[in-house]
Amino acid sequence: CGIVGYIGHREAYPIIVEGLKRLEYRGYDSAGIALFDGKDLKVSKTKGKVVDLEELSEKEISKHGKLGIGHTRWATHGVPNDINSHPHISNSGDLVIIHNGIIENYASLKKALTLREYTFKSDTDTEVLVNLIEDVKKQEKVKLGKAVQIALNQVIGAYAITVFDKNKPEEVVVARLGSPLAVGIGEDEFFIASDASPFIEYTKDAIYLEDEEMAIIRRHKGIKVRKIKDDSIVAPYIQKLQL
Ligand code: GLU
Repeated sequence: CGIVGYIGHREAYPIIVEGLKRLEYRGYDSAGIALFDGKDLKVSKTKGKVVDLEELSEKEISKHGKLGIGHTRWATHGVPNDINSHPHISNSGDLVIIHNGIIENYASLKKALTLREYTFKSDTDTEVLVNLIEDVKKQEKVKLGKAVQIALNQVIGAYAITVFDKNKPEEVVVARLGSPLAVGIGEDEFFIASDASPFIEYTKDAIYLEDEEMAIIRRHKGIKVRKIKDDSIVAPYIQKLQL
């Protein structure tokens, strides 16, 4: 189970695929990627290895885009198959998420969302989470960061997540509780990963999120870290990575 994300001025695809390979040691059964090419959201995902994903992407997607997220899945809810692989998209088609961990109360959240006419393609807890975020965003009329925060306060479980809205491609939201997440900071570019190995050659500056922290990352405006529970601002500690 691994997470890699990129927002900046480079092509995201090679950074993400190479990054996922470096996280293979963590173990996984499926792999997937979502890229935003400035116009459309392209998703490619499959049971199997990162090389299988590369083969599939070759046929399925253009591989262009300076915003993207990639995932290797270790199934906890729903068998390893193509549909249960991440990324998962919300019902509107706007929000896209990758998640490591477990949403323990996903069944009751899913039931409540189903009553509100949400539908689900996969058997995962993760697809419940992305639709919970969407529902909060619509009901409360809040921005993505706030919606993620409100949603996560309803969640019992463990997670590292990365989520973005294809209509707001300047921004990525990440959060952590119980699964690792690092953010590499470059010049007008940010790297997100389960550990620093996917971005070590691009930047030596990294923030390791602590449990119960989330961050809103904006391509040109930088990163803001907050506590998920009480919304207090955290002054991020930027570590210098050693080679
Ligand atoms: N619980 C999620 C799933 O089964 C994420 C698993 C993971 O950590 O890769 O899809």
